[in-house]
Amino acid sequence: MTISEQAAGCRQDYDGTSPFPEAKEHVPAGWVHIGLTAAIVVLPFVALAVAIFLAWGQGVTLTDLLLAAVLYVLTGLGVTVGFHRLLTHASFIASPRLRVVLAVAGSMGFQGNVIDWVAVHRRHHAFTDRPGDPHSPYRYGSGLRGQLRGLAHAHLGWLFAEDRTPAERYAPDLLADLAMRRVARAFPALCALSLALPFLAGWAITGTLYGALTAFLWAGLIRVALLQHVTWSVNSLCHVIGARPFKTRRHDRSSNLWPLALLSFGESWHNGHHSEPSCARHGLDRGQIDPSATVIGLFERLGWASNVHWPDHERTERRRVGRPSHGR
Ligand SMILES: [Zn+2]
Ligand SMILES: [Zn+2]
Repeated sequence: MTISEQAAGCRQDYDGTSPFPEAKEHVPAGWVHIGLTAAIVVLPFVALAVAIFLAWGQGVTLTDLLLAAVLYVLTGLGVTVGFHRLLTHASFIASPRLRVVLAVAGSMGFQGNVIDWVAVHRRHHAFTDRPGDPHSPYRYGSGLRGQLRGLAHAHLGWLFAEDRTPAERYAPDLLADLAMRRVARAFPALCALSLALPFLAGWAITGTLYGALTAFLWAGLIRVALLQHVTWSVNSLCHVIGARPFKTRRHDRSSNLWPLALLSFGESWHNGHHSEPSCARHGLDRGQIDPSATVIGLFERLGWASNVHWPDHERTERRRVGRPSHGR
């Protein structure tokens, strides 16, 4: 049993403002874990600095930006539609082939293997903003210092802590799925492919090694860094700032943050999501752009997705803050 889980045992005593019990017992991860994680999160940033230096005065090529955009969309939707809405929350049923394609695309986003990602995210929903949550910005209390430290923890710090989420408990369905086990095992190879593709495409298009390297920087490392920080911002910012139009569980402080809607493919309508986690659409109100939901709708029309949990207007309205909730 991990420290977080022991702490979760006494979560009934949590008052909503104090530091979590496990905050006192931060156990750093092993050196190999820290080294690998640091490489994964620091290298793309170093690449950004190098790329800006290289681009200075001559601009970045349209090829680099287009390749970056295409890979950002493919890997981003792999995470949001595949890892999150399909595999974590079962908000629709995908054809077996689409399920694998989405899991592969998400794995190329450098956010961990599919089974661990799903396990951690389900644990986040089970203990949202309470002791036991793997990445809550309220871990160190809700005072100013604790809040800032908590934001850093929720954004990035949690990746560096030894706090394993047992997949046997949180994702037994995926462990029992041979295809998903294979995709999870292929995670390192898929990360390599995610960087090799832009390098090779840059080489093929420009015919020069320089073109291959700038494509590798922009459409490889920088694209990875941007998607990582957008995803992590949903974990950090979307539990601290923004609107909370819908009722969620006690202590759950998920919020809707519109500026991130497009870049996060609709995931920043996080209060809408936490209010009904299995719903395929997170942007529940008019004008809340949700590209992931649009893509799921497209899959449904193509016959690749079925049993889609679309929002039900009456049910949504009952969950709106200030409306009576009886009659559910
Ligand atoms: Zn959340
Ligand atoms: Zn979720």
